[in-house]
Amino acid sequence: MTVRPLAGRCALITGSTSGIGLAVAEALGAQGADLMLNGLVDDRSAETLCRSLGERHGVRVAHHGADVSHPGEVEALIDAAQRHAGGLDILVNNAGISHVAPLEAFPAERWDALLSVHLSAAFHTMRLALPGLQQRGWGRIVNIASVFGLIATQHQAAYVAAKHGLVGLTKVVALETARSPVTCNAVCPGLVSTPRVLRDVQSRADELGIPLEEAKRMTMSTRQPAGEYIAAADVAAVVAFLCSPQAAEVRGVAWAIDGGWTAR
Ligand code: NAD
Repeated sequence: MTVRPLAGRCALITGSTSGIGLAVAEALGAQGADLMLNGLVDDRSAETLCRSLGERHGVRVAHHGADVSHPGEVEALIDAAQRHAGGLDILVNNAGISHVAPLEAFPAERWDALLSVHLSAAFHTMRLALPGLQQRGWGRIVNIASVFGLIATQHQAAYVAAKHGLVGLTKVVALETARSPVTCNAVCPGLVSTPRVLRDVQSRADELGIPLEEAKRMTMSTRQPAGEYIAAADVAAVVAFLCSPQAAEVRGVAWAIDGGWTAR
């Protein structure tokens, strides 16, 4: 018989209709967790996603379309997650957007949007979810940061600032919960083969008029020593470990999964 260590737990994953978030939903569902999905998709796509995840893993799945850049919508999201499947046990902050421009040309509204989605949203989900987790006597919070939570790059001021902020915020929450059965950790992926990243590399190939493989090699050569994308499922496996009973004393880490990028 398969052991499903998260059976009876309920997980909210923000931005789980695509990429890493969807892979995390798959991984936690496979461990038996009921799922509250979130992400900006139409109702029909959300329904299809819920049905297919639910059937595949035999868990209860719902979707809430909150835009996490609005604190009022985050409140409604946490409320819905706490009502779904008997209470919220696992919170994964993953929703993300990006914008690339030099600082002097960085639009102020994109700065605000990135900070809201990557950093303020995590502040709000955690502050609203924590009392319930403490009351239930068990909880896991995982924040999807980035290598850019550990090191910087040019032309991504808001993303780098938000992800560094998220790593710092993770440590604060880990310290504030250290004497409780609630843990808080961050995961810092390098280049993951999500639709967004694959699109970016394709655009680079198109711009330079070079084959896709060459654009990938160029992108990797300055970044990821492994030379390959990281699979979203592998990032999700790290998240699943951090949510497992065995990770009870893993607290406040920023776990890089980056093909050696930050080892240099
Ligand atoms: P993606 O574009 O595939 O998915 C992003 C998800 O966030 C989608 O479900 C989208 O609907 C949702 N979303 C965006 N804005 C939202 C909002 N305002 N409210 C609610 N949901 C919103 O992205 P991805 O590449 O899977 O990235 C997921 C996370 O992982 C992000 O936080 C990103 O910074 C981080 N990350 C990605 C990589 C990578 O290489 N792909 C590397 C490191 C970190």
